Amino acid sequence: MSNRDYYEILGVEKNSSKDDIKSAFRKKARQLHPDVNKAPDAEAKFKELGQAYEVLMDDDKRSMYDRYGEDGLKNAGYDFNGPFDFGFGDLSEILSSFFGGGFGGGRQNPNAPRRGSDLRLDLQIEFEEAIFGLEKDVEISHLENCSRCNGSRVEPGSAPSTCPTCGGSGKVQHVTQTILGHFTQVSTCPQCQGQGRIISNPCKECRGEGRKEVKKVINIKIPAGVDEGNKLRVSGEGDYGLNGGPPGDLYVVLYAKPHKAFKRDGVNIYLEKGISFSQAAIGDIIEVETVDGIKELKIHVGIQSGTVLTLKNVGVPYLNTPSRRGDQFVKINVVTPMNLSEEEKRLFERLAEINNEKLKKDGHLFDKIKGAFSGT
Ligand SMILES: [Zn+2]
Ligand SMILES: [Zn+2]
Repeated sequence: MSNRDYYEILGVEKNSSKDDIKSAFRKKARQLHPDVNKAPDAEAKFKELGQAYEVLMDDDKRSMYDRYGEDGLKNAGYDFNGPFDFGFGDLSEILSSFFGGGFGGGRQNPNAPRRGSDLRLDLQIEFEEAIFGLEKDVEISHLENCSRCNGSRVEPGSAPSTCPTCGGSGKVQHVTQTILGHFTQVSTCPQCQGQGRIISNPCKECRGEGRKEVKKVINIKIPAGVDEGNKLRVSGEGDYGLNGGPPGDLYVVLYAKPHKAFKRDGVNIYLEKGISFSQAAIGDIIEVETVDGIKELKIHVGIQSGTVLTLKNVGVPYLNTPSRRGDQFVKINVVTPMNLSEEEKRLFERLAEINNEKLKKDGHLFDKIKGAFSGT
C-alpha cells in the first residue's frame, strides 16, 4: 500500500506534462471504470488511479510526492482513506465527459438505496490552533431523515399509489421508426420520475422529500499539526441517505490565519529577528518568540546578517505523531543603525579609523564630522 509509484500507475514518465497526465488518466479510467470493468480489483485500481491523478495534477502535492513519496504526503496530512476529490476537482467533469454525466449514479433505479451527499465546511482557524489542535463546536446544516414520515415521503396514514403512466415499472418505452429500422428507447417515466408510484398526499413536515434540512452543532476535534487545506472527515455528518442508503460524510477544510511574525512550512516555523551591530560583533543571548513562548537564543561572536539559527523541537507537531516536532528557524538580520547621534557618529568614525578604512561614500558628511571631531 505504501509508497506506490504514481507515474507507473498512470503509465507516464516522471517529467510528464499535465496534458500527458490528463490524457493517460482518461485512457486508463475508461479501462478501469467499475461501470465498464467487472474485474474484482477494478474498483480498487480505479481509486488508486484517481489518487495518482489527483496528486500529480496538483503542483504542491506532486513536488512533495517527488521529494518524499507517498509517506511524505501522508505526513503532510493528505487523506488517503477518503474518497478522492470528485466534488472539489475537475475529475467529475472529466469522467462525466465520457460516461455521460451523473458519474456513478445516473442510471440507478431511483428506488435503490443511495448514499447521502458529502458536505464541505470551510473552517478558518488561528495559526496556533493549527499547530496545537483544538476542539471546536461548529454549526452545520445537513439533510436528516424526516421523523414524521420516517423517510417514506408519505403523510402518515396514507399510502402511495401505483403510477398509471408506467404501471409501477418507472420506465416508459418509445419506439422510433427510422430508415435503419425500429429503435426502442427506454426512458424514465415522466410522471413518477422513475419511482413507479405517485404520492398524492405528501408528508407535511418534509413536503414529500423524506429528508429535511436541519441545523446541528457538532463538536470537531482538530488534531495538532494540521496544515492549510487539510481535510478532516466527520463520518456520517453529511446528508442522510435516500431509500435507506447510508449518510454521506462531512469534510471540514481547514484554513489557518497567517501569523504576524511566524511563517510556517510544513512542520517548521520561520521567524526573522533583528539584532544590532554590537550584538553581532560581541555576541549576546537574545529572547525569541516561539509558539511555546519566549526562548533564549545564543548569538555567537561575529555572526553575519542572514545567518539562520535553529531552535530545535519548537516547531509544529507531526500530524498523528504529536510527540515529534519540527524546528524553528530564526534568520538573523543585523540592523544598520539610522539617525545616529553625534556621539555614535564619532564612535563609528573612530572605528573606521582603527580599521584603516577610508570612507568616501558620503564625502560631504564625512568632512563635516571630521571637522567637528578635530574642532574639539
Ligand atoms: Zn416527511
Ligand atoms: Zn411512472
